[in-house]
Amino acid sequence: MNISVAIDGPAAAGKSTVAKKVAKILGYTYIDTGAMYRAYTWYCLTNGIDCQNEQASVAVVDRVKIQLLPNDIVLCNGIDVTKPIREPFVSANVSYIASYKDIRLALVEQQREMAKSTSVIMDGRDIGTYVLPNADVKIFQIASPETRAVRRYEENLQKGIECTLEEIEADVRKRDYIDSHRDFAPLKPAADSVLLDTSFLSVDEVVDAVIDIINRKLKEKQ
Ligand code: C5P
Repeated sequence: MNISVAIDGPAAAGKSTVAKKVAKILGYTYIDTGAMYRAYTWYCLTNGIDCQNEQASVAVVDRVKIQLLPNDIVLCNGIDVTKPIREPFVSANVSYIASYKDIRLALVEQQREMAKSTSVIMDGRDIGTYVLPNADVKIFQIASPETRAVRRYEENLQKGIECTLEEIEADVRKRDYIDSHRDFAPLKPAADSVLLDTSFLSVDEVVDAVIDIINRKLKEKQ
């Protein structure tokens, strides 16, 4: 039987770090839906499309082919965009792209397709509420805005992405605001999700907590 685990939450709450580790331990496929919105945004920015112009951004929906490959590799129309999609110029625009219904519908279709044939752990903003409403386990992962900014700042430094802590903090706040105020599939906890505050937990502690939640939920379902 295929299991689906949804992990949603605000920007830089550590969802992908944890989801990746849990996926490895449990043998599930990890699906980073944020990378898909980022790749679409990268396409617009590198093709002279104004991400704040909904009509222009949606018009290319059939021209943007995104593939998530093993080892976190992301391709956009065959080009490896794994690194550029994490750059500040993409982060600053991605929430506009993610607010357009027609773009979401196209990417969500692909996300649902990926979850059909295998056990998945999928992270994003609307996985438990919209993409996989029947997910076996739903977790809403949070941390204080300050903690999240510091974590993302350190992650960026490790990846060689230039930024300041102030820029990251402003970006995280702006994205959370746009993501939670959009009309279609906004960021919010699913009614049946488990809230997990990671502010004072190490990565390994969060991984253990997520595995505990998964085991408990799956036992309850038996
Ligand atoms: O997960 P990550 O922070 O990389 O996501 C980048 C952006 O993609 C989010 O700020 C949000 O605007 C959008 N997103 C979304 N729905 C998802 C995943 C990401 O709207 N399921």
